[in-house]
Amino acid sequence: MGKKCLDYISELNDYLDGEIDPGLCAEIEEHIGKCENCRIMVDSLKQTVKLCREGKEIELPKQLEDKLNSMLKSRWDKKFGKNN
Ligand SMILES: [Zn+2]
Repeated sequence: MGKKCLDYISELNDYLDGEIDPGLCAEIEEHIGKCENCRIMVDSLKQTVKLCREGKEIELPKQLEDKLNSMLKSRWDKKFGKNN
């Protein structure tokens, strides 16, 4: 398929929500099984979502933080709409 890690990362959003196409989900899981970067990313994401729910502040590398922020924002927008 020639997908890059970043393509997967942008899909991890839905993956974590469980709102992803089962085929794509399997594809992501296969990729994370082989790719340490993405595995770390998923772990960080899960951790971030968990900590956010608990209302804790966490420190992340700047690049990862930016990526997560935009992902979490779009996730939020998708769920609750943009009119607030
Ligand atoms: Zn990867």
